[in-house]
Amino acid sequence: TNQPKIRVRFAPSPTGFLHVGGLRTALFNYLFAKSQKGDFILRIEDTDRERLVDGAAENLIKSLQSVGLMFDEGPGIGGKCAPYVQSERLEHYRTHTDLLLEKDRAYRCFCTSEELDAMREEQKRRKMQTRYTGKCRRLTPAEIEDRLKRGIPYTIRMKINYSAVEVVFNDLIRGRISIKTSQLEDQVLMKSDGYPTYHLANVVDDRLMGITHVIRGEEWLPSTPKHVLLYQYFDRTPPHFAHLPLLLNPDKSKLSKRQGDVATEDFLKKGYLPEALINFIALLGWNSGDDREIYSTDELIQEFSLEKIGKAGAVFDLQKLNWMNKSY
Ligand code: GLU
Repeated sequence: TNQPKIRVRFAPSPTGFLHVGGLRTALFNYLFAKSQKGDFILRIEDTDRERLVDGAAENLIKSLQSVGLMFDEGPGIGGKCAPYVQSERLEHYRTHTDLLLEKDRAYRCFCTSEELDAMREEQKRRKMQTRYTGKCRRLTPAEIEDRLKRGIPYTIRMKINYSAVEVVFNDLIRGRISIKTSQLEDQVLMKSDGYPTYHLANVVDDRLMGITHVIRGEEWLPSTPKHVLLYQYFDRTPPHFAHLPLLLNPDKSKLSKRQGDVATEDFLKKGYLPEALINFIALLGWNSGDDREIYSTDELIQEFSLEKIGKAGAVFDLQKLNWMNKSY
């Protein structure tokens, strides 16, 4: 067949440990790649310089390896592949914002954080949706030139195409999603420190790395319409998207640290077997359609398919993990 090779990625931000939610995302990407004879890529998304934690990237890699999730491309694989660390790829993001500026799909915004705060306060006071007013869209070329000459710092914002009315895409788990462009704002793509925001770097890299399927947590769903627009601006077809259901505590609240361990390494330190942990994590939102609960990782690869992922939140039930751990 002439189907392109499946390529997926796990793209954590190195801000701490590998959360079990992150492990679930990594695992589903891994299982999908392996079941399709595709590639599983690791990309470190470290462009938010304020949230960086020293040693977090190494720690993430170690946690993935300790549960057997080996990636085919990514940082630290002996010269075989490019190191996919976003802070080492700044020139790519710059080229892409240059292109968007040239095509009038983006613009420089010289507003200071004080001005932006004042705008937001004013909008709140008037009970309006808080978002950037688009003030700098209206600068003339001469006004822009003057600000650049004076060395005034600026961000680069994407120009939402409001005349398009809505952005539509198909999610492999959630079906057709449509968002009104009036709900979007001119997202900052490049910060004044020269680092891209998550949105730009994520889309540029997914494109450059030939990612065919973006499989990530549901919390990223609100970002996807902006990403779909960016693909349009770059004249590219977006990848397939699959947003995984939330992880919940047994009381159906969002899974949080307060109710127990959420770091992969803590489960291993407590003596849980990697195979049992993987087996348990695989069943968070996915099942093969029968009552079977015990699987080896190879069996998971054989059985896995995106069609069998549900939309409903998945309960993180420690008792089940304990039971599985004893079954091994
Ligand atoms: N860096 C994002 C994260 O921390 C990646 C989200 C995505 O997969 O697009 O989860």
